[in-house]
Amino acid sequence: MFKLKNLLPKEVYKTVFDIDYNKLYEAGKRIILMDIDNTLVSYAESEPGEKLMALFKRIKEIGFEIIFISNNHKKRVETFVRAMGSRYIENALKPFKRGYRKALKLVKPFGKDAIVSIGDQLVTDILGSNRFGIDAYLVKPIAVRTEKWYTRLNRKIENYALRKIKKHYPEVYRKFGVWDE
Ligand SMILES: [Mg+2]
Repeated sequence: MFKLKNLLPKEVYKTVFDIDYNKLYEAGKRIILMDIDNTLVSYAESEPGEKLMALFKRIKEIGFEIIFISNNHKKRVETFVRAMGSRYIENALKPFKRGYRKALKLVKPFGKDAIVSIGDQLVTDILGSNRFGIDAYLVKPIAVRTEKWYTRLNRKIENYALRKIKKHYPEVYRKFGVWDE
């Protein structure tokens, strides 16, 4: 079904607020492909609040472009992104490569090395990013309670994958420890 290696996040954080964006910039990253649902807000929220808006502002001031990339439909993504005026890709079909290819085209002449993705799901965000060849950062999902059936199915696969990661990549599994802090 998938190579376990492709499910390994480069780093694991509790929230998007815990990521050191200055360090990412110093490492040569310029583009952030940002998931929305359960990475930034729960399914129940349609717009970013003040705290997120401040974070986006800070990230942009460092020198990044944030491109929102979501498997959700256009109306959901457009509504969320409106206040920022950022570019976005809806119906991205992660983990397939199509959405990532679109993103790469948008950010030319930047290449894959300059792109980092942030998301909450191993089998969409992390798998898709790794298959495409960009660094993938995982955050803890905000609220799994309101997830739809297909995401809940993904979570089941994810739990299975996590047990495999624990067994075969204990050093990566250890990074998930921040979720319990
Ligand atoms: Mg998500």
